[in-house]
Amino acid sequence: MPATTTEELLELHGRIRECTACPLHKTRIQAVPGYGPVTARIMAVGEGPGETEDREGKPFVGAAGQLLTRLLESAGLDRRDIYITNIIKCRPPGNRDPEAEEVEACSHFLDEQVSMLQPDVILVLGRHALSRLLPGAGGRVRRGERVYVPLYHPAAALYNATLMDTLEADMRRVREYLADAEAERSRRAAAVPIGAAADDAASTDQLALFE
Ligand code: SF4
Repeated sequence: MPATTTEELLELHGRIRECTACPLHKTRIQAVPGYGPVTARIMAVGEGPGETEDREGKPFVGAAGQLLTRLLESAGLDRRDIYITNIIKCRPPGNRDPEAEEVEACSHFLDEQVSMLQPDVILVLGRHALSRLLPGAGGRVRRGERVYVPLYHPAAALYNATLMDTLEADMRRVREYLADAEAERSRRAAAVPIGAAADDAASTDQLALFE
């Protein structure tokens, strides 16, 4: 479990809200750092805030967010237990795709969030999140004891029944992935002798595609 406190996570949120590192700060109403408990074992990462998120300062609160909540519930998951954020924290004007420079400028914040929470499962929502977190990957990836799960973005599935069916089916397996990741963490904790942390850290850098 992470040693990070809620206060430390909120301090990071504060830095994100004050950030002016890329041009998106000029057109945002407010930055959208992320939302959820520091103890979350699942993190969901989308692309960027939309109009509603920009207004309310929380991620996934529009129609796509309501769908995400419903999908999580149908999979037996409570949204309140999940930390939700985006690749970039400020809304691109007109919901355009984020520029590579904007993603680059913002990516260290996501890295800090992952480092703070140490989630067992990361749900990678949509192609921008996929290219940032899992470049070149087509399916689930395990990095050490963490599982990355690429999923369609809920916004893409809103008006596409085929994508919706796939997204629902994929989401139903998330609890299984969480159990797998927790079992792997327990196995590693039992197998790694004190003082061997450096070896374990090296192995986590190796990607292992499975299935
Ligand atoms: S998108 Fe990210 S890097 Fe750009 S201003 Fe917002 S928080 Fe800063």
